[in-house]
Amino acid sequence: MNTRQNDFDVIVVGGGLVGASLALALAEAGRRVALLEGQAAHFDDLYQGWDARVYAVSPANRRFLESLGAWPGMERIGTIASMDVRGDRGGRIEFAASDADADAEALAWIAENRWMLAALWRRLECCDITLLTGVRPSALSTTARQACLTLDDGRELTAALLVGADGANSWVRGQLGLEASVKPYGQSGVVANFDCERPHGNVARQWFLGDGILAWLPMAGQRMSMVWSTPEPESLLELDAETLAETVASTGDYALGGLSVITPAAAFPLRLIRPQSTVKERVALVGDAAHTVHPLAGQGVNLGFQDAATLAALLQDHRDPGDWLLLRRFARQRKEAVVTMQTTCDALFALFHQHQLPGLPWLRNAGLSLTNRLTPLKRQFARHAIGF
Ligand SMILES: Cc1cc2nc3c(=O)[nH]c(=O)nc-3n(C[C@H](O)[C@H](O)[C@H](O)COP(=O)(O)OP(=O)(O)OC[C@H]3O[C@@H](n4cnc5c(N)ncnc54)[C@H](O)[C@@H]3O)c2cc1C
Repeated sequence: MNTRQNDFDVIVVGGGLVGASLALALAEAGRRVALLEGQAAHFDDLYQGWDARVYAVSPANRRFLESLGAWPGMERIGTIASMDVRGDRGGRIEFAASDADADAEALAWIAENRWMLAALWRRLECCDITLLTGVRPSALSTTARQACLTLDDGRELTAALLVGADGANSWVRGQLGLEASVKPYGQSGVVANFDCERPHGNVARQWFLGDGILAWLPMAGQRMSMVWSTPEPESLLELDAETLAETVASTGDYALGGLSVITPAAAFPLRLIRPQSTVKERVALVGDAAHTVHPLAGQGVNLGFQDAATLAALLQDHRDPGDWLLLRRFARQRKEAVVTMQTTCDALFALFHQHQLPGLPWLRNAGLSLTNRLTPLKRQFARHAIGF
């Protein structure tokens, strides 16, 4: 490669959902983009089995993915038309998309990780973009004019802006010396998919259990995807398929009748990560590299997609994509949404895992049920879920 070929407007490190969507948005806007992904991309077995990682995609992010032409490439999409949330002592709140807005189609859509990735990467393959897969960076330096990235095969790339979209353990964040406060929740999210005896009716169900949170997300057909945030993931991972299905079904009061496992359980440690900054000279962080949240509201990748949409919009028509004032504006624009979501999820987690205060279990359950009866407050709940 000659020097010009290795010089870009933007280099994105990390081709997960957030990095891929950002790279696609920028390439479609005519930017010279390189996307670096450590793993080789292959999407040949999309119809085999079901991905245990599924996401609740908000209406705003569906629109973002539609604008990138990626949404139509996805199949097997489930719909969340309403939510049914139960407290640990009888409290309950139910709300539907129509509580937020009479015309709202859904609170969110459920999509498998690999179908979303495939849809984005297939669009990327049709773009004028440099895709570097199966290769990792080994050094990163910045000057006032550019970021310089050395790859582990010796190549050197430069760009006006480098974006770290390389996940919660971000290599980019580490190279920049950006400290991050990391608060482990002492839980893992155990995920698995099930066939259900009864139709789910497009209802997402969630139970605050006292020592954990169980969520059932409606998938396409008569299936559901479980996220069980628990301090003892091994107690679920060690179960044989039949016992796991029975444990999950009985904990959810057989709301969907009997269950049978279609994707074995896997566990992900849950942490709240807050870097001291998400921008530095010629560099920005997006997605889990910039923030993680507890999955109880299913908002992690949604925040990441909004990082990508915001950054791509800010960069449009801006001559220098790595301009410091622009990066500061990006950080300011994203801060409120991210801090609000992190604080809300953290507070809800604390509220439902506090066992020392004697009156609290009653109070939190009464609070849920009261909110359920107060139409304006419930409307706010639904509007928040839908992303108004
Ligand atoms: C149990 C659980 C359930 C969840 N459920 C939901 C949900 O329902 N809805 C929701 O919105 N969010 C959910 N989340 C959060 C969601 O998974 C993350 O927010 C999302 O995956 C972050 O995407 P990302 O692209 O930022 O990072 P990642 O998905 O981590 O992607 C990072 C990419 O960078 C690559 N990479 C890493 N390091 C390098 C390197 N040095 N060089 C090159 N490439 C590199 C990796 O290979 C990877 O492809 C959940 C999380 C958990 C743990």
